[in-house]
Amino acid sequence: MTTFSAKSGWTPEAEIEFLARVEALVEERIGPMANEVGKVDEFAWDTFRLLASEGVFATAFPTRFGGSEAPMRLRVRIIESIARVCSAAASMVTGTDLSGRPIAAYAPPDLAAQIVPRLATGELQCAFALTERAAGSDVAGLTTTAHRQGDSWVLNGIKRYITRAPVADMFIVVARGNEVPGAAGLTAFLVDRNSPGLEVGPMQPKLGWYGSPIAEVFLRDVEVNDSRRLGDDGKGFTIAQDTLIRARIGHAAIAIGRAQGAIEMAAQYSTRRRTFGRSLGEHQGVQWMLADMATQLEASRCLMQACARRYDAGDPEIAVHASMAKVHATDLGMRITTDCLQLFGGNGYLKDFPLERFMRDAKLNQIGEGSSEIHKTVIGRHLVRKAANALHPCLDLSGLES
Ligand SMILES: Cc1cc2nc3c(=O)[nH]c(=O)nc-3n(C[C@H](O)[C@H](O)[C@H](O)COP(=O)(O)OP(=O)(O)OC[C@H]3O[C@@H](n4cnc5c(N)ncnc54)[C@H](O)[C@@H]3O)c2cc1C
Repeated sequence: MTTFSAKSGWTPEAEIEFLARVEALVEERIGPMANEVGKVDEFAWDTFRLLASEGVFATAFPTRFGGSEAPMRLRVRIIESIARVCSAAASMVTGTDLSGRPIAAYAPPDLAAQIVPRLATGELQCAFALTERAAGSDVAGLTTTAHRQGDSWVLNGIKRYITRAPVADMFIVVARGNEVPGAAGLTAFLVDRNSPGLEVGPMQPKLGWYGSPIAEVFLRDVEVNDSRRLGDDGKGFTIAQDTLIRARIGHAAIAIGRAQGAIEMAAQYSTRRRTFGRSLGEHQGVQWMLADMATQLEASRCLMQACARRYDAGDPEIAVHASMAKVHATDLGMRITTDCLQLFGGNGYLKDFPLERFMRDAKLNQIGEGSSEIHKTVIGRHLVRKAANALHPCLDLSGLES
């Protein structure tokens, strides 16, 4: 049997085999638990432990730290497969990456070697604490402070909407570490949950993504040794962006997987429900709806996969492509889950059927890790800047009056 090994890496056979294992896990274990997970907003420990024990979290981490370091082209297929039945489970895979990447890539090597192997096995959990009450989209405006005192830093501020804060053992905290305004003043730290002065607030009730609770994190004179700084002073924004690119591609994969599951359920329902003497699926209007959704979803999947390959190839414009993949997949995912629910009629609105869960979960993909509006701004700004600097000679308008 072909399996991944650090020596041979991810051969095509190893990729196929791992995906088949994930598929079996989805059908036999994660899928059957998903409806229960979607009923109560508390951390889905069984799902988390299962993903950890099957080596799914490890795919995010370098082999030197005990991970299996799957290429992004494989990661998106794993995430998509899981999201087809359970958003919470898929978000655990992307969330482990989001909160672990700053440690694996930017912590001093001995600190990374202590912690990352335990993140890969699910023994430890980390949360990524960037957002604040007055700084969500405008991350560079965050006001949590980090003052240097000898060998340590003293952190003060409030972070909000922090996924898995109720259960995390540690937090990546991005704070204003020097007097420089804007993004250049930000520095990232690894902060232990049991640090004196760190308090996790009560769980914040929310619309969807049950199984993956959020809370505020309060930092009052929390002392962090300089050995727990991640990257250089002033590199916090860069670290956050590097981490978020991966998370944004992950959001696209979750949105696509969920939309795939929604279409499959709607198509199945259309064979069972009869109106006007025929099954729903025999009405041309319903067939066209399904056809439009499936075609648009396939286009979005191609965009996401192309983006994943660009990531693996080190494309210097990957941030813009990640924004494109995310905004396209997540906006489409919202439309598809809404339309699939519509195909279920009244049943779609009931908690008995999974579509209402899918629709509630879809909304977060359009908000988290940068909202759709912000990603469109990133893409548009990039196009305008690029056009101002260099044009293909055939498209040069400089001789024309504007
Ligand atoms: C369930 C959940 C989990 C989360 N998990 C985490 C986490 O683990 N860690 C973390 O750090 N954060 C987390 N977040 C925060 C999330 O990333 C932010 O909510 C998101 O970036 C948007 O920020 P905001 O909520 O402050 O919205 P705002 O920035 O206040 O924006 C409000 C609205 O205005 C729009 N808008 C803002 N500026 C512009 C503009 N220039 N042009 C056009 N439209 C604009 C936005 O698109 C949005 O629709 C989570 C949020 C949720 C809801």
